[in-house]
Amino acid sequence: MENIRVLVRVRPLNYRETHLGANSCVTTTNTSVILDNKKEYNYDHVLGIDSTQEQVFNKIGMSTLESFLNGLNCCIFAYGQTGAGKTYTMQGKGIDDLSNDDIHLGLQPRLIQKLFSQLPKDNTWSLKCTYLEIYNEQLIDLLNDSKPLPLTIREESKKVYVENLTEIPVTSYNDVLSLLQRGINNRHVSATQMNLESSRSHSIFTIQFEQRTKEMYTRRSKLNFVDLAGSERQKLTAATGERLKEAANINKSLTVLGLVINSLAENPKRFIPYRDSKLTFLLRESLGGNSKTFMIATISEASSSFQETLGTLKFASRAKNI
Ligand code: ADP
Ligand code: MG
Repeated sequence: MENIRVLVRVRPLNYRETHLGANSCVTTTNTSVILDNKKEYNYDHVLGIDSTQEQVFNKIGMSTLESFLNGLNCCIFAYGQTGAGKTYTMQGKGIDDLSNDDIHLGLQPRLIQKLFSQLPKDNTWSLKCTYLEIYNEQLIDLLNDSKPLPLTIREESKKVYVENLTEIPVTSYNDVLSLLQRGINNRHVSATQMNLESSRSHSIFTIQFEQRTKEMYTRRSKLNFVDLAGSERQKLTAATGERLKEAANINKSLTVLGLVINSLAENPKRFIPYRDSKLTFLLRESLGGNSKTFMIATISEASSSFQETLGTLKFASRAKNI
């Protein structure tokens, strides 16, 4: 069907970067990023340092919502180094209090707000949410408030799903907000209990939509919001034993995502290693299947992040070629 569409968003220098003497090494147009080395990279959309959360929504939220309401599966990924603005762009500022400040509301709450304003006031539809995290190739249910057990991915008649994942029906924007908050709280709890870093985990928030059409058949679609682990290269030098194994495993899903994207970009008909990681197996349809998919690549304009930024821009270029 359609290829993956890519939006790059640049975040301004922060206090720390300025304080450490970094400059900006990025300029932008509506569809390109130009780095200090004069190399230019082209994308479907580029939003510069002055961009607002509303602009992100206008560029990709509206069309995603329209497709989703029309019964298409949709997926939005956020990719980039830790601190580049993935969570800010997806969820917003002060993620523990999403209702806090409207200007900083991210793409996810905006899209959900709009979704509820467009649904008919009748009983022809239902919505359910799931929220999970992938850490060290283990799946954790973020809506199960008791001690989270690792979950298993199953495949049945070509459909991939997570066994025993908590599904919660929602009927309003506030229902979804409280689920998001619950998931975020559980994420903090599991992070502390298991001594893990949230920058190393992937989170997937999914809304499942079922509607009864006028012709009385049921139409189903899914919308995934995927906040990926930080794309920065892991420092393995100090790691030994379990730590080393963990470090090697930790970004397995991200490494395989890169391999899958390369393979799809080169030749979608050849063998694609979806099953090599939890993330790519679970999101197979969103990557190479029948789905409307956006990749948001976030970068900092800081010269001190030049190498990581270059890596993100190259990754995003390959995704655009799918
Ligand atoms: P990530 O999820 O990629 O690790 P965050 O989204 O948590 O990064 O962003 C790191 C910090 O930078 C946060 O304090 C966030 O509010 C701020 N930030 C991110 N993107 C922007 C932006 N486009 N404009 C202003 N501040 C931003
Ligand atoms: Mg984050």
